[in-house]
Amino acid sequence: MLEGFRADLHCHTTYSDGTVKPLDIIQMACDLGLQGLSFTDHDTIEAYQEAIPLAQAKKLSLISGIEFSAVHRQVSVHILAYSFPLSSSFIQQLCQRHQQRRNQRNRAIIDLLASQGMPLSPEDFPPNLFSLEAHHTIGRPHIALAMIKRGYVNTLQQAFHEYIGEGKLCYSPGESFSVEETLDIIHQAKGLAIIAHPHLINHVKILKDLLEMNFDGIEGYYARFPRQAHERWVKIGARKGWIITGGSDFHGDLKPNLPLGSSWVNEDTFTILQQHFQNNLFCQ
Ligand code: AMP
Ligand code: ZN
Ligand code: FE
Ligand code: FE
Repeated sequence: MLEGFRADLHCHTTYSDGTVKPLDIIQMACDLGLQGLSFTDHDTIEAYQEAIPLAQAKKLSLISGIEFSAVHRQVSVHILAYSFPLSSSFIQQLCQRHQQRRNQRNRAIIDLLASQGMPLSPEDFPPNLFSLEAHHTIGRPHIALAMIKRGYVNTLQQAFHEYIGEGKLCYSPGESFSVEETLDIIHQAKGLAIIAHPHLINHVKILKDLLEMNFDGIEGYYARFPRQAHERWVKIGARKGWIITGGSDFHGDLKPNLPLGSSWVNEDTFTILQQHFQNNLFCQ
């Protein structure tokens, strides 16, 4: 069990490309001694509905969260949003637009794979996942898992590296949402917008642009990066007066090297997010 307050602000459930269900993540968080948590599924907030009662019963503080996909200068950028009302129509509409984008994009990728002699069918995906009505976010990791199941590739990395990674043979970008538009929507929803895992941004120009945009914070503590890797982002965040968030990016078995709770924020930071959410309630 952990000493002191820790909140993991970045994890994925079975509603996107995580392999652990929301209720099981709540139980894991409690077993680990975490006091706070945010589910940040890709482009969906579906996990909350079933998780809130259990979190309340277990006295685990949950804060609303999501990880939106955006594109800047043709490069994929992830944006975390926190502390918005789950009932926000701004967030719900953006989620719906992303589901449409993903349906179209996933179909294009699957067509490209078929044209390369690697057909996939709905049975290759988990039940109810490959459906227009499903509230699950279907991502490239699901396509990669289906490719492994069919024996086209041996690993997720191989699927991305050879076929479905950005710019690869069977990649289709689909419609894209700009960072600016995503930030506007998060702010209309009264949420906080955070640059996700800057550690993974390899393009200097992209990072420079993002740091000039209207973000409220930066994910300084990420996954299992060493302490020196965090210092850079914490300094940048502090200089800008931004909130410095952190989380593991837990995906269950999909990324077994990222255990829940491997990065976290302290009580002060978690309280800032909670207070932002509570202040919104009184403004509405
Ligand atoms: P999507 O949101 O459908 O475009 O899929 C992107 C997701 O795929 C990311 O959030 C990662 O979780 C995962 N991903 C991206 N690149 C790789 C890779 N090289 N190997 C394994 N997973 C990856
Ligand atoms: Zn993911
Ligand atoms: Fe991400
Ligand atoms: Fe993530």
